[in-house]
Amino acid sequence: MNTFQDLGLNDDLLHAINDLGFETPSDVQAQAIPILLEEDTDLVALAQTGTGKTAAFGFPMLQKIDVGSRTTQGLILSPTRELCLQITNELKLYGKYCKGLNVVAIYGGSSISDQARAIKKGAQIIVATPGRMKDMISRNMVDISKIEYSVLDEADEMLNMGFYEDITDILSHTPTDKSTWLFSATMPKEVASIAKEFMYDPKEITVGSKNVGSDQVSHEYYLVNSRDRYLALKRLADANPDIFSVVFCRTKRDTQKVAENLIEDGYNAGALHGDLSQNQRDLVMKSFRNKQIQMLVATDVAARGIDVDDVTHVINYQLPDEVETYTHRSGRTGRAGKTGVSMVIVSKSELRKIKSIERIIKKRFEKKDIPSGMEICEVQLLSLANKVHNTEVNHEIDKYLSSINELFQDTDKDELIKKFFSVEFNRFYNYYKKAHSLNVEEPRGDREGQRSSKDVRYFINIGKKDGYDWMNLKDFLRDLLELGKDDVFKVDVMDSFSFFNTEPELQEKILSFFTDFKHEGRYVNVELSSDKGNRGGKKRKGGKRDGGGRRRRGNDDFKGGSSRKRSESGSKPRRSGAPKESSFGGSRPRRSRR
Ligand code: AMP
Repeated sequence: MNTFQDLGLNDDLLHAINDLGFETPSDVQAQAIPILLEEDTDLVALAQTGTGKTAAFGFPMLQKIDVGSRTTQGLILSPTRELCLQITNELKLYGKYCKGLNVVAIYGGSSISDQARAIKKGAQIIVATPGRMKDMISRNMVDISKIEYSVLDEADEMLNMGFYEDITDILSHTPTDKSTWLFSATMPKEVASIAKEFMYDPKEITVGSKNVGSDQVSHEYYLVNSRDRYLALKRLADANPDIFSVVFCRTKRDTQKVAENLIEDGYNAGALHGDLSQNQRDLVMKSFRNKQIQMLVATDVAARGIDVDDVTHVINYQLPDEVETYTHRSGRTGRAGKTGVSMVIVSKSELRKIKSIERIIKKRFEKKDIPSGMEICEVQLLSLANKVHNTEVNHEIDKYLSSINELFQDTDKDELIKKFFSVEFNRFYNYYKKAHSLNVEEPRGDREGQRSSKDVRYFINIGKKDGYDWMNLKDFLRDLLELGKDDVFKVDVMDSFSFFNTEPELQEKILSFFTDFKHEGRYVNVELSSDKGNRGGKKRKGGKRDGGGRRRRGNDDFKGGSSRKRSESGSKPRRSGAPKESSFGGSRPRRSRR
């Protein structure tokens, strides 16, 4: 079945689907919709967030309910207010041509009487968080005795959050002959037992496999000393100028502290955890959605239900205790058909956890090095060059051009370019020139077949703008050069250029192949990247040492040291007294804190 028509959806829904621009049903939709439309059955669907599961249960529910009646016929339980509102909004969009449809969201932290009033008007579908739902049932504010369809969305999350009793209590107020559709990203035994207890002979569908991470996400880990965790986080952010990420910490205290330090160091960051008021959390989420926040530092509980489609990186600042939690974290990226990266910052003592996660998610982690200061400078410089290249000229400048020209009349083009870029480059260079390596040697034998430190790193002048991500760039290079499955690795795709690594034996083949190679009418240029990484203080081009003196930094995990001036342990490089930017050519000018 390749189209929504084939699935048996009615014209009202097809019309809305067309407006939304959905072209083909996602896997979970193609599997679930025909079953739910044709049969009155219970269903267990294993699907990650971002797979289109809301529509997988939403379309059949909208088609099956009677919009002419004011009776509540569908009940959807979801773990968080955030998710509850998202489902409600999605259902309203899907059902925009279903005349008379009324979908009401009920959740804590908002006026209960307003919600009761909305239900009284006649809600055919209620989307609720368990706590508020139970509360409204006990106050007779809602009647769910005629429910025909109930959905338990993100069932594993609801159980993780301790809603088991609330759910059983709510379900006891619904008819026994209703259909129950359970959606869950993972299948821990608690979810299996809910299915056993409350469902009758459910049909099962699985998108991917149980507890297995999405194919769209690559997993990487970075081995550092615990005390360097925060510095490592900053370097990962600096090495990815367009990062849009969720950074996970284990406790509310760490979450707040990491976010505060990032903000102080000049990053667009925000904290999301349970000690914030609902209002504060809403504001943070709004800024994140608007991309005013590039690094959202969050606890696992607070991040549940974050449903932002274009998160580029999930960063595990600390690993969670439960593997299932890791699956949820990494599922915040690689959504809606996009690719994403899940990075883990680990210390030696946590390495065994990486192995157990690998076993369960059935995905291999790639060990990567925290970029050296000079690698970061290179990435930032090229990223800025790219931004300058793509910037539209503002002709307001024309009237000042003659005075500027006069100033530079004796400066040739190369010199001018160097001067222009030095304005920004110097900040990063001064900041990172003495940066020491943060990488820790992996204990011998711990990672069989791990890459040697002699990998060769290349620059290639194609990137996201040309339609590449790490996966298809890897495929492109492998196919083109007829290389083996694992010959190209550490692929980092930026806007209009990328980096990748190979073993040294392939260097000649690769460089000679790309001496005169044209693809789709343009020259594809591959060069050795000027910095090959921070390999234990090896001598660098120009005689500089990247390893530096290996001076012990302070013990503070979050600050990485006491010196705040022109050293990595201090704030991020930025112009003093000028609008502060998150990185070279960063995202938004903000007031300097200095
Ligand atoms: P969900 O897994 O329900 O949270 O959906 C993730 C995102 O994918 C939402 O923004 C949906 O609007 C979108 N979406 C759902 N189904 C499709 C589809 N068939 N084609 C394209 N986008 C979709």
